[in-house]
Amino acid sequence: MTGPVKITSKTEVEEFLSKYDDFLFDCDGVLWQGDVLLPKVKETLDLLRARGKRLIFVTNNSTKSRKAYTKKFSKLGIDVTAEEIFGSAYSAAVYLKKVVKFPADKKVLVLGESGIEEELASEGIQFVGGTDPTLRRDIEPEDYDKIVPDPSIGCVLSGLDLHLNYLKLSMALMNLQVPDTLFLATNIDSTYPTHGKLFPGAGTMCAPLVLASKRQPISLGKPSKAMMDCVKAKFEFEPTRTCMVGDRLDTDIRFGQDGDLGTLLVLTGVNKESDILAEDAEIVPMHYMTKLGDIFELLN
Ligand code: PLP
Ligand code: CA
Repeated sequence: MTGPVKITSKTEVEEFLSKYDDFLFDCDGVLWQGDVLLPKVKETLDLLRARGKRLIFVTNNSTKSRKAYTKKFSKLGIDVTAEEIFGSAYSAAVYLKKVVKFPADKKVLVLGESGIEEELASEGIQFVGGTDPTLRRDIEPEDYDKIVPDPSIGCVLSGLDLHLNYLKLSMALMNLQVPDTLFLATNIDSTYPTHGKLFPGAGTMCAPLVLASKRQPISLGKPSKAMMDCVKAKFEFEPTRTCMVGDRLDTDIRFGQDGDLGTLLVLTGVNKESDILAEDAEIVPMHYMTKLGDIFELLN
């Protein structure tokens, strides 16, 4: 296998761009870091659009809906439509609606934030839990008898929940002990990089439930095939003419590889050059560059 190609010149950028019509972009670590736009990202996205490339933004962040994400883009000066965004909360909603054909009379028990609630609502799926303030409390002695499987719940959906507690985990576990209850996760990222540090990722939210129920959730985030199937169903692209751009090997680059897409790693997020040049590197992108904005800078 040939090693990853580092793109450092105008000719290499032109050659890279000529290979692809469609680009799937990871967001955090590629376009921005937290709330700070990375250099020449806007110029690069404008340049790609001007060349007729299709841009699709694929994020594992389930805390925001597509609509909320457009606000984030526009605050940072980038114009996108909700239709160009594919988040893991939306992915889970689409999976329930289109793949599982989740019954209209059943509800989803959500461990997560408003992004999941908004996307479930957009697909007409009923839910409980989520940001419900009455669940933000300690478990009380009288709760033990009251927490039982709820026959109206057909699915436990777990994402990053900033108010996760023993009460919600107990409700989820009761329902997961019913074999027919679906177990989904928006994403199972081990860590959530922010403010220059690693915080627990969405995968750590469902980990206690995996241990206790001895069940594994179906993940609807990168790098899962389920997410790729949902993205493909919506956008219909030719994999060999499509490139996944990301900052993380075990989510973004694996996602691209498993979908037979081209892959570009940028070094402005989780993984560094040493991770892909190491002899024992397991996941190696086809291409890499220092930052996404190099595309604009090298062409100008
Ligand atoms: N999960 C959460 C809760 C996040 O806030 C983020 C980044 O903001 C991510 C996952 C990773 O998102 P991405 O796939 O855009 O890197
Ligand atoms: Ca990222």
